[in-house]
This record gives sequence, C-alpha cells and structure tokens, in this order.
Amino acid sequence: MTARAIRGHEAALELLERALALDRVAHAYAFVGPSGIGRKLTALAFAQALLCRSRSRGEAGEAPRPRPLGGCGSCSPCRRVQAGTHPDCHLVLPDGQTIRIEQIRELERWASLRPREGPQKIFIVDEAERMPPVSANALLKTLEEPPDRTVLILILSQAKALPPTVLSRCQLVRFAPLPLADAVAVLGEHGVEEATARSLAAACQGRVGLALGQAPHAWRERRDNAVALLSKVSAEGGETLFDSVEALGRDRAQAAELIEALLLWHRDLLCAKAASDPRLLISGDRQAELSLAAGATSWAAILEALVACREAWHALQGNVSPRLTLEVLLSRLALGAASG
Ligand SMILES: [Zn+2]
Repeated sequence: MTARAIRGHEAALELLERALALDRVAHAYAFVGPSGIGRKLTALAFAQALLCRSRSRGEAGEAPRPRPLGGCGSCSPCRRVQAGTHPDCHLVLPDGQTIRIEQIRELERWASLRPREGPQKIFIVDEAERMPPVSANALLKTLEEPPDRTVLILILSQAKALPPTVLSRCQLVRFAPLPLADAVAVLGEHGVEEATARSLAAACQGRVGLALGQAPHAWRERRDNAVALLSKVSAEGGETLFDSVEALGRDRAQAAELIEALLLWHRDLLCAKAASDPRLLISGDRQAELSLAAGATSWAAILEALVACREAWHALQGNVSPRLTLEVLLSRLALGAASG
C-alpha cells in the first residue's frame, strides 16, 4: 500500500511526507473528514512508512525530500501493518457504540512500553468521535505527556466531535470527499463498469471507500427500502411511523444510511422535476417512477424534503438520537408528500 492507492488528498499526503522527510513526525494527528474517503488507508500508509524496513532514511547531510507516503509494501513490517498483525501498530475500534475507557487505558498501557520491534509505536483510533467524554479525558493524559516514540492518529468525521482540549494537542489533517471524476476513476480501477461507477460515485458523494464496500445492488436495495418505507409511512401514518422508527432508530449507522438514501431520492426528484438530463439521475433505473412522482409533487414540497433530510443529517452528526432524528424526518417527509 503506497500513496498510489490513495486518491486525492494531496495536501494531507504532502504534510505527512514532509514530516517524514524532515524527521518531524508529530506525537498526535487528527485525520478529519467524512468516512469512506481514505483516512484510514492514509493512516495505515503512514504507519507503514514509519515501520518499513526498506524505506531509506536519507543520508546525513542530504536535503530531505518528500517521498510517496507508505512503505515498500513487501517487507515483513509493511505486510504485517497491512494485515493488522504488527505488534507496534495498534488499531482501536469502537467496542459496540462507543470507545470505552478500558480501551483507552489499554492504549495507555501499550504506549508506556517500549516498541516491540520497530522504531516506534503507532496507535490508530478509528471513529474517534465515538469516545464519550470519560474516554476522551483519559486520552488527554496521554496527549499531555506523550510517551516516547509513540504516534497517535485519531480518525474522525468532524473536528467539533471531540473536546477542544483533545483536538488542540493533535496536528489537524483535513480530508475532503473526492471529486466525482476521481471517484469514478477509482471505481473503474476496481472493475466497476462506467455507468454503474457514475451512479455509485454520486450516490456515495465521492466517498469511494463506501462505494467499494458495497455491491451496487446493495445500495439499490437500501434505496428501494427507504422509498418503500416513506410511501408506507405517508399512506398509513402514525402507527407505521412509530413502529419503523422503533426498529430503525436503534442503529446510528443504519439511520444515517436511510437519511442518505432519502436525500438522494429527493435530489433525483428535483432533477426529474427540472426535466434535466436523465444521465444526471442517481436512480436512473427508476426514471419513469421519478418522472411520475415529480409531476405529482410541488417544487416547494421537494425543496422542503431536501431541507428536512439535510437537517436530519446534521442532527445525527450532532449526536441527536437516531430514533428522534428519524421520527422528525419521516413525519416531515410524510406530511410533505400528503400535501403534494
Ligand atoms: Zn516495507
């Protein structure tokens, strides 16, 4: 895995490459940006660069020169970083819904020890926004007195998801979604046929990791379920709404997927209403139905639905409960559909 596998993010890669070349790697980084765009891939490439055996360290006196981020990819440390088995590269993931304080204590314990075999220890905390305050505070101790030869990488979607005390001790590295053309190209490289790649890249809004993580039919299925749910709730009202929200609101990720599917559906409705080029539709496979629905829905109702989806998205990011978020969203959408 090298920078060749990572698309876009030039500024982020350059910052990390320079730190390596100048031997000025920070104790802690915060990789901030939406999921599925390469934050973790970059963190692993950085870990490889730090642990690779073949990566030359540059001659003394030689001007430091940035190199493509990553290791050689074939030495034993590189291969074990990739496989998740290197004893000096630790990946911390949420245990269920949160990153528990016990996990942070474990991280602290490892960080206080000497590296097992490499020159340093790397800790990658994925979905760091899932640290409740008690875990974030525990981590603060490590950040305030960074253990020797330790690099900590926090991966999170929004900077404001962590207390400023934690974030201010990390070097911020920002990641933006890939431009659509890049996203289509990456999907193409992974063997996704072009028309599908275009709709998938648009559906995932440039988050290629998400697009690759799901078969095209899986995305369509989710969209179909979301649209079916909305018509059912619109037709049947209260009881159905309550039951669906009860079932779907248990899982934040699932709620986010539902909101996204509904947002993209209404975005398509807007395109259909404007009678724009059908190739712009994400759900091109349901074009006839979209035209019909667009004819029966007012501009105001479509725009209000888009606003409702956006607000729901932000509410969920801002830690409003998935249940409440879906309840508000589906009521607004159903009401809008009823008024046409
Ligand atoms: Zn290597």
